[in-house]
Amino acid sequence: MTMPTIRAGQYTIASVVTGWARLDGGAMFGVVPKVLWAKGEDCDDSNRILLATRTLIAAADDGSRVVLVDTGVGSKWLPEDAERYAVEHREGSIRKALHALGRSQGDVTDVIATHLHFDHAGGMTRFRDETRADLALVFPGATHWVHRRHWDHALSPTLRDRASFFPHDFKLLEDSGHLEFVEGDDPACPIPGVEWSLSHGHTPYQLLPLFEDEASPLFFTGDLVPTASHLPPAWVMAYDLYPLKTLNERLALYERVSARNLRIAFPHDRRMGGARLSVDGNRVRVEEPLLVNEH
Ligand SMILES: [Zn+2]
Repeated sequence: MTMPTIRAGQYTIASVVTGWARLDGGAMFGVVPKVLWAKGEDCDDSNRILLATRTLIAAADDGSRVVLVDTGVGSKWLPEDAERYAVEHREGSIRKALHALGRSQGDVTDVIATHLHFDHAGGMTRFRDETRADLALVFPGATHWVHRRHWDHALSPTLRDRASFFPHDFKLLEDSGHLEFVEGDDPACPIPGVEWSLSHGHTPYQLLPLFEDEASPLFFTGDLVPTASHLPPAWVMAYDLYPLKTLNERLALYERVSARNLRIAFPHDRRMGGARLSVDGNRVRVEEPLLVNEH
């Protein structure tokens, strides 16, 4: 089986489905009525839609960097908790994808946590054994990048979003020597060929990487645009703390898509890891799916 990859600058890039989860369809589409959003979604008896939890892997040609963006739901789930979100962790999926790229887990140099919600940061840590007493980093050789202001928020979230943060996903990083805070409102990125963008509508200081490419850079949308179904600017999740900010950030993103000929990569689309878009005012569509899953 070959894994689909694309190129961006000096990187070969893959999108790995590290697991699956189901979240309430109404919450995923905010004010949009079900008669509109239900088309094309895989919706179960509890009104939950199927979402992939993806990791983007970017491997540099010269072997100097292997960058992961987000790590999925991870392996620390008890059956009764997994049930609520129909969480299914695909053990070994990142390892197998790294292998297909000629790399191993120990080669991972950087883990970018766009934000610390459990469906993005869960795979950064694991339990050492079945006693579930001790945690360990899944990528102990990697620098883990998180925006400091988001980290602070994750440690004292609001009543509205605290259910999305599990401290056992990230607290361990604090004294590990493997956490690097991104600072400020216009941060420079020290990873070669990568730029940072910040987004605040879904959660404060979401950290979104762009992989530079002369012809068509690749931008990881994080939960600014979780799936291809969320491309319409106003189809904003009810989970977002600041929905109007999300809407404006999407409009600004689509201007950048046109101006810089960006391709985008999604964290949660169940069918495709990314897309080339067609932007016509507020009408934004997938022109070409990229990194389509094999089944
Ligand atoms: Zn998410």
